Amino acid sequence: MTQTFEIAVFDGDGIGPEITAPTVKILERLAGASPDYALSFTAAPAGASLYAETGESLPDRSMEIARRADAILLSAMGLPDVRYPDGTEISPQIDLRKALTLFAGVRPVSVRAGQRSPLNLPEGQSIDFVLIRESTEGLFFSQGNGEVTKDEARETLLITRDISEKLFRFAFSLAASRKATGRGPGKVTCVDKANVFRAFAFFREIFDAEASQNPDLIADHAYVDAVALWMVQKPWAFDVLVTENMFGDILSDLGAGLMGGLGLAPSADIGLDHAVFQPCHGSAPDIAGQGLANPLAMILSAAMMLDWLGTKHLNTALSADAARIRDAVDRVVSDGQSLTRDLGGTAGTEEAARAVADILFAA
Ligand code: ATP
Repeated sequence: MTQTFEIAVFDGDGIGPEITAPTVKILERLAGASPDYALSFTAAPAGASLYAETGESLPDRSMEIARRADAILLSAMGLPDVRYPDGTEISPQIDLRKALTLFAGVRPVSVRAGQRSPLNLPEGQSIDFVLIRESTEGLFFSQGNGEVTKDEARETLLITRDISEKLFRFAFSLAASRKATGRGPGKVTCVDKANVFRAFAFFREIFDAEASQNPDLIADHAYVDAVALWMVQKPWAFDVLVTENMFGDILSDLGAGLMGGLGLAPSADIGLDHAVFQPCHGSAPDIAGQGLANPLAMILSAAMMLDWLGTKHLNTALSADAARIRDAVDRVVSDGQSLTRDLGGTAGTEEAARAVADILFAA
């Protein structure tokens, strides 16, 4: 039976629309060829350009489209010159994260064959792990509300049982599905600082309780400082890492660094009912409108979306198509003929996206 999924599409600012169009086209062709699922796309206007035109950055109607959708595909939002009157940036993606309680920030870190990385990887060694950053509390809890007097400044770190349980449950289920598809040994590492802070001992205790529910998976702990070191020294040893908001913020940039930049870095922000999939990079206003943007991180984000929908709705055709997209991107990267300038090539957005489509839809 064909399952139909509603996808809300925020094509955003800057290069956003340029990388969204070919990505949606690939998804439409994949779904069109599948008897097992269909995708229906609804555009959700939002972002800095919209704010400049209308005074609204995330209209109620777009929020409604996001809430109703089965998944949300988002490119990039924000423009340096367009700000709210208080000087802060327009970032509806952060508003969505809060409004939809998207507690798990998922940042895959992978270095494929042929991909540039600042690490000198041993011959034949690749990197493939996932960092999960709690995204609603931790040290960002008091964001904007820290107390500052003449002599002192205080911020509050909050760890709740409720969100931690949901976070760890998600981490173990991700490790299980990676293991089932041969992408990892089924290991989850809790990254904390439990040797110094009581809050992290609490975090670890909740992790251990969830681990005991998953005897077929490996549970492991590591201090955040050691993880930073190992991400450089032996990143191939990780499978799924799960951590607090601020630690995750820092480690995910380290992860993007290992990948040689943002051009191939997808991400997801996942909650119990909703999820947003978007590339890690921003709206790149410096190259917008020139057809130069690299669409691969956006296309890989779409693959994450299919994977998530497939797992959630027990639809293996979606997960299989996600794997096909990843595989096609791998081949485009290792072939090296259709890479955009940020990856050292000369191709434009269309050519890079077409190279992926040509592999996917080769007769
Ligand atoms: P944000 O704060 O919104 O994440 P940022 O300030 O980190 O954004 P980006 O918009 O990600 O900045 O751009 C940083 C640099 O990377 C720019 O030079 C931009 O042109 C380049 N860049 C970002 N995304 C892409 C892409 N998809 N293709 C090619 N170049 C990109």
